[in-house]
Amino acid sequence: MIKADTNFAVIGDPVEHSLSPKIHYLFAKQDGNQIKYEKIRVTKGSFVNFVEDFFSNRGGGLNITLPLKTDAFEIAGKLDRDSKSCQAVNTLKSVNGTLSGFNTDGVGFLEDLEVWHGISVKNKRVLLLGSGGAAKGIIRPLLINGPKTLTIANRTPASALGLADQLRLENFNGIEGMGLDDIQLLDQRFDIIVNATSSGHKNSEVPIDENLLEGSICYDLSYGPAASFARWAESRGAKRSIDGLGMLIEQAAKSYEIWTGFSPDTESVRAKIRDDIDI
Ligand code: NDP
Repeated sequence: MIKADTNFAVIGDPVEHSLSPKIHYLFAKQDGNQIKYEKIRVTKGSFVNFVEDFFSNRGGGLNITLPLKTDAFEIAGKLDRDSKSCQAVNTLKSVNGTLSGFNTDGVGFLEDLEVWHGISVKNKRVLLLGSGGAAKGIIRPLLINGPKTLTIANRTPASALGLADQLRLENFNGIEGMGLDDIQLLDQRFDIIVNATSSGHKNSEVPIDENLLEGSICYDLSYGPAASFARWAESRGAKRSIDGLGMLIEQAAKSYEIWTGFSPDTESVRAKIRDDIDI
């Protein structure tokens, strides 16, 4: 049990649409904890001062979202394996005065995909769209689970190529990087297509051609109104289509466990949040 009135928050910019407070209040209810969990807009310029003030005033933990995950990585005195490998932190906790950084995105993604949806990545041909922060957060946990191949395709090709080079240096095999426009030139099908682009937030076009969907399971990291890739894939006959709401809840559960030691039961929370967002 944590002390009453311990403060938690998700910080980023923008942050007003975050579902994290709702999710964490549901976890705290299960745990019998009285927490305060806010969403607070924090800019890059005010980040360091904010974090220092927060943890000196009954701060129990912070979730970090765009664009502050790299700043959180830089400020943390101690890092877990996943945040070290992707150089981004989405969860901060102060342990005996030392700021500890964690990244729970990869674990949350795999928990949702493999455990909740029963889809194993082992020996699968995986296409990952995007090479930003979220893609980097899920990529190594995904590779550790042994896909046959991983193709990373990004709007800005250099970023996908650089990420693929880095992963090969880390002795991961079967990796290829390319521009989004080059996927169509491959005469190849994929078992799993993961959308880790933020195109759904920008009302942009879906980043791939629909002929790639045949026989594929599609997973969109975006959720709610931004999950246009998941809705498009479903309407165009993908074998299965899943949005990122489950991942959001599973990564939040790992954060809650890091802060409090309590591992929430996510089943009821998944149902409740899905009902609430009604999409
Ligand atoms: P970043 O800003 O770090 O990266 C964005 C990525 O999307 C880049 O690869 C960028 O390409 C690409 N992109 C942006 N606009 C377009 C477009 N119009 N067409 C094609 N590609 C585009 O964001 P994140 O990686 O942090 O987030 C990506 C998505 O994942 C967001 O929708 C976010 O909400 C979601 N997410 C979900 C989580 C969950 O728990 N479900 C957790 C974390 C993120 P380029 O390099 O060319 O700019």
